[in-house]
Amino acid sequence: MFRKAHRKLSAICCLTMAWIVLAIVLCCLHVSEKNMYGQEKALFFLQANTISSDLYASKNISMEWYKRNIGNEANTLSIETDGIPSTLTSLALSPEQQSLIQEIKKASPNAQKLPNTRMVSAKIKQEFFEYSNGAEDYLVMNARFFEKEHKIDAAFLYSLAPFRQNVRLQRMLFLFIWLASLLALYLFSHLFTSRVLQPLIQNDEKQKRFIAFASHELRSPLAVFKTGLSILTQQNPSLAGSDKTARIFTLMDTEMSRMERLIQDLLCLAKAEQAALHFQFQPANLADLLQSAYEKHAPIAAEKQISLTLIPICSQGQPKQEPICLCDPQRIEQAVAILLDNALSYTPAGQKVTLRLLRQRGKCCIQVIDTGIGIPDREKEKIFDKFYRMDSSRSQKEHYGLGLSIAKEICHAHNGRIWASDTPGGGSTFTIRLPLRPTML
Ligand code: ADP
Repeated sequence: MFRKAHRKLSAICCLTMAWIVLAIVLCCLHVSEKNMYGQEKALFFLQANTISSDLYASKNISMEWYKRNIGNEANTLSIETDGIPSTLTSLALSPEQQSLIQEIKKASPNAQKLPNTRMVSAKIKQEFFEYSNGAEDYLVMNARFFEKEHKIDAAFLYSLAPFRQNVRLQRMLFLFIWLASLLALYLFSHLFTSRVLQPLIQNDEKQKRFIAFASHELRSPLAVFKTGLSILTQQNPSLAGSDKTARIFTLMDTEMSRMERLIQDLLCLAKAEQAALHFQFQPANLADLLQSAYEKHAPIAAEKQISLTLIPICSQGQPKQEPICLCDPQRIEQAVAILLDNALSYTPAGQKVTLRLLRQRGKCCIQVIDTGIGIPDREKEKIFDKFYRMDSSRSQKEHYGLGLSIAKEICHAHNGRIWASDTPGGGSTFTIRLPLRPTML
């Protein structure tokens, strides 16, 4: 129980923290990308202003100047005098770059302008904007000024490709950091929840030890009382002579039997949970085992006017084979008896209970199918908890809510499973699934 809770808690804790870390990582990524873009823009403005002022001052406009000022190879600079590309431009720009300049010229009137607070001089008319043709993004500066009577136009394209590449790398790095943190988070959650659960586990252990001890200690005095009572009634029939005394004796006997059953159940459960229950595994024929359980319960069913049927073996699409299972036959019969007791208790007179054995893909299933009151879906797991009883059964004095927990422990000790489902048409079906003996698979 605690192992399952531990796993669930670790997963919940790890997932919650993973989402929080993801949110933090995304925020950091957003801030960092914004900063990187800001820096990129600052660099672009700096380069664009240097180019504009150098051009305006007409200092050393040579190929060397061009290469030095353009910065990255992906950037482009075009200079035109009265609309005619300069020799430098024709030499330095490839035909693709020249057609890109034309494209940008056409797009520039409609482009969303960047604030041009850093204009280099009032005599140079500059406009800055972003341009994207789907494949590539650029920050663009168009500058125009007049020298003597000539109109000089300069277009500077600052490629954002290196920036995008850096952004992609950074995103991969953040993703890697987040994935690596998941492992660390899981380890932390596992250790943290194990610490949180520790006091509960210790308490549970103490409780189990107490139950085992108390039921063990109560068993002997109760046996003495019971034997004493029966000796008293046998040796002194006069004691039970009067109606009143007889009623008191019967009441004492019934209550002691009830107490004896409770103590037996508690002891069995405590031992099973502490793995101290002794199992004697041996090859057993489940068909015989069910026949015996059926014979024991048939008179009780008849008394309650419930029709009890045994369907010995159904192998779907396979020849009938004796289902030999390596198990402790007494314990398995105990589990079947618990299911049959319940089925007969929660099924009204006139209805039916079926005990069925079937083989399915290397496993053997024992089913107890009733047409009784049924179990709501939300209760189907809880009924296997200790002392859990559904409201409808609270009034039944001889039911303590321990039977199914014992059956579950027995199944687990056999590497098997037990679960409840609905019977088509109403009622409950309990299934015990056990692995068959390897030679029978
Ligand atoms: P109890 O001794 O109370 O029967 P169990 O552990 O055997 O304890 O069962 C737990 C609860 O599951 C019962 O109190 C009952 O409410 C419900 N239950 C068990 N078997 C059936 C069934 N065949 N049909 C309807 N309810 C059932």
